[in-house]
Amino acid sequence: ERARLHRLRHMPSVTLDGQPVELLANIELPGDAANALEAGAVGVGLFRSEFLFMNRNGELPDEDEQFEAYRAAVLAMSGLPVTIRTVDIGADKPLDRMAVHELRHEHALNPALGLRAIRWSLSEPAMFRQQLRAILRASAYGKVRVLIPMVAHRSEILATLDALERARQQLQDAGIPFTDVELGAMIEIPAAAMTMPLLLQHFDFVSIGTNDLIQYTLAIDRADEAVAHLYDPWHPAVLQLIANVIAMANGAGKSVSVCGEMAGDVAFTDLLLGMGLRSLSMHPSQLSSVKQRVLRADTARLAKEVGPALASADPAATWLAMNERWAQRSR
Ligand code: PEP
Ligand code: MG
Repeated sequence: ERARLHRLRHMPSVTLDGQPVELLANIELPGDAANALEAGAVGVGLFRSEFLFMNRNGELPDEDEQFEAYRAAVLAMSGLPVTIRTVDIGADKPLDRMAVHELRHEHALNPALGLRAIRWSLSEPAMFRQQLRAILRASAYGKVRVLIPMVAHRSEILATLDALERARQQLQDAGIPFTDVELGAMIEIPAAAMTMPLLLQHFDFVSIGTNDLIQYTLAIDRADEAVAHLYDPWHPAVLQLIANVIAMANGAGKSVSVCGEMAGDVAFTDLLLGMGLRSLSMHPSQLSSVKQRVLRADTARLAKEVGPALASADPAATWLAMNERWAQRSR
């Protein structure tokens, strides 16, 4: 089994009908990059940078400390792309005992709908620019991409672009080296999934955060056990939004990935490939089983089955039944 997994790791990730599928890793700290490589990932699709900010007794990492962490991840991936998400603080990832910001969070009635992710960053412009400078500086050491969590509003997009431009200007003025970075948006709010032309106009790539997209589409707190049975990735509304984002991005020739839990769950691999997805980012431990699915997938066949499954009242049952019939025919 170990030998088989080892062979699998070095095998290119290509479907039966010759479609390359990019398998990337989600990491939380620079040290995780080694696991990503070990698992055969061809890059980091999601570096959750907020983990550098958490569990620190209120003191936050300054620009240099962040830069060193990002550079460590970039160097560890030796030339492979590293997608660094700006802090996704708030809601399920609170800061500990953090001065005034923390107070604001504690008093939020609905933290998941409150000042989190890019909203939090834009409310702390100095800290946001500091993080952007740290990320830009790491780009001098490898291929860096910047990913913005929870965007939905045009004003947020424009403010983000402005912050990035200022960070670039500050580095340039100080003579500090950096290179071009691609800018991406996480699609986590239904409003963003439904206004793709706006996002595609401003961003180089998109990454679908299904964990939050499910939460916000179904109005189910992803951390609340009492409603966990209603947290359903197979809900037709969720699947329609995901299919729309993939189709719009592909149509615009911009890269689209899924980096939520669905990406690492083999129950969804065929469906996502059928929707036209060619990039998935997941925990390194899930990579080999997803790759096995990719190697056995026929995307041309799968693409034909997506429409009927999405249109049905019970997509999970419809999808499984179609694939079961196909498996029997091919036996
Ligand atoms: C997501 O929401 O799917 C995602 C990848 O981000 P996080 O789980 O860190 O909120
Ligand atoms: Mg999220």
